[in-house]
Parts: sequence; structure tokens; C-alpha cells
Amino acid sequence: MEAAAEPGNLAGVRHIVLVLSGKGGVGKSTISTELALALRHAGKKVGILDVDLCGPSIPRMLRAQGRAVHQGDSGWVPVFVDREQSISLMSVGFLLEQPDEAVVWRGPKKNALIKQFVSDVAWGQLDYLLVDTPPGTSDEHMAVVDALRPHSPLGALVVTTPQAVSVGDVRRELTFCRKVGLRVIGLVENMSGFVCPHCSECTNVFSKGGGEELARHAGVPFLGSVPLDPELTRSLEDGRDFIQDFPDSPAFPALSSIAQKI
Ligand code: ADP
Repeated sequence: MEAAAEPGNLAGVRHIVLVLSGKGGVGKSTISTELALALRHAGKKVGILDVDLCGPSIPRMLRAQGRAVHQGDSGWVPVFVDREQSISLMSVGFLLEQPDEAVVWRGPKKNALIKQFVSDVAWGQLDYLLVDTPPGTSDEHMAVVDALRPHSPLGALVVTTPQAVSVGDVRRELTFCRKVGLRVIGLVENMSGFVCPHCSECTNVFSKGGGEELARHAGVPFLGSVPLDPELTRSLEDGRDFIQDFPDSPAFPALSSIAQKI
């Protein structure tokens, strides 16, 4: 068996949270980004490791696109996305020549990169390291879990939407966690209801409560529902801090409450 990555550069990290989803487009990167911002507002130091090799979108969401990572004495130095240096980010996106370039490497090369990401980034002292993973379950997920396993506490946060709940994607994700012995911190239902841009009232366009019911059924904690808010979509497109700029959105208390539970 291959040796697990040496977790030396993770020694100063208090909690590692893997953010998983059964399929793409459910808001996994959005939840990772907004939780990082919510944690920062709660006075925490946060790192984000973006290993979504198919679509590394976090640099864009945090307006860090095009920034360069460089090699320091104790490994790759992550990019600080804010002046206070409360959020540091390492993304495969920083290694691509063009932001929209796709990673077309074969499995072993991808897995080697993931292992290097885990072992070679100089994170320093962090309260939380959020790891944004590709959708589904694949060899890359195994590589991440294997590389992070020596470091604890390690847990998974599973993101779903009300519709995705019904098609069993989440069940597969939870089965993966059980099989690889990964503790599930809990389930988040995203895009749960639509926030009216005029009156801020939240309407349940799709069924609601499916995530909570599934969590109960699966015996995992339910962390909360985040509504679909056009202001949130816009703030991500503009690289703005939603938590700071839109405290009246119903998505704000939802994200803050989830951040307290991880
Ligand atoms: P994934 O990482 O699961 O592929 P993303 O986080 O990239 O999904 O989200 C897909 C799109 O949905 C993005 O354009 C994002 O801005 C938008 N989005 C996700 N969650 C919300 C939300 N709660 N409110 C508004 N827009 C959202």
C-alpha cells in the first residue's frame, strides 16, 4: 500500500472539512466560499483547498483569479484573499495557464497533484481548512481522504439541493463516507426556496424538508437550508463578500448558523 502523505504542513490546522456533493451545480463551491466568509466574520482563520480539478471556481468567487502561488521555505505559499489575511486559498486554478483551461490529466497525475496539495502547502495556523472536492465520488476523492486521513479531526459536509435529494446522489455520497470511514459532520440543503429580489420573501419553489428527512433517515446531522438568493449569485460573480454586504438576506443567518456547527 502507498504511504499516506506526511501531514506536517497541516499540524497547525484545527479542523478539516471536506465539502462533498453528489453532482455538480448544487452549490458546493458556493457553500465552501460562503462558509469561509462566515467563519472569517466570526473571527476565525480559514484556508480553502480547491481540488475541484474539473472546475476550480473558488478563485473567481473570491476574486483571486490570476494570482500566483509561489514556493516558500516550507512549501507552496497559499494566496491570501483579504487584507487581514484571514482567508488563504490554494487552488488547482492557480496552476492553469488560462483560467478556463480544463485539467485533462490522467488519474495517477491528478492523484499525485492532490497528494502534493495536501502535503506541500504551508497553511500555518488555521481554525478551519475547507476542502472543495470534485462532484461525485472518484479516485480523486480517495486520494484526498487517504492524504488527509492522518490528520484529525477530519469530517465531511455534504451539500445537496431539494431535487438532488430525490435521485439518490446524496445517499451514494453518504455510502462513500461510511465505506472510507469518514465522519459526516452533516448535510446542507442548498437552493432551498427562492428569495424574492423585491421583497426578500422566501418562496419554496421546490419541495422543502427533503434534506432534513434524508439526514434523519441516514442518521447524520442536518446543518441547515440555504435559500437561492439572486444577490448571492451576483455577489459571487462580482467577487464580493456576501456575508458583509447582505446581512438582511435570509441566506445570511442560514450560512452563519451552519458555520457555527462545523
Ligand atoms: P458546484 O460547486 O456544486 O458545481 P456552484 O457553487 O458553482 O456549484 O454553484 C452553481 C451556481 O449556482 C453558481 O453560479 C452559484 O453562484 C449559484 N448558486 C449556488 N448556490 C446559490 C444560492 N444559495 N443562491 C444563489 N445562487 C447560488
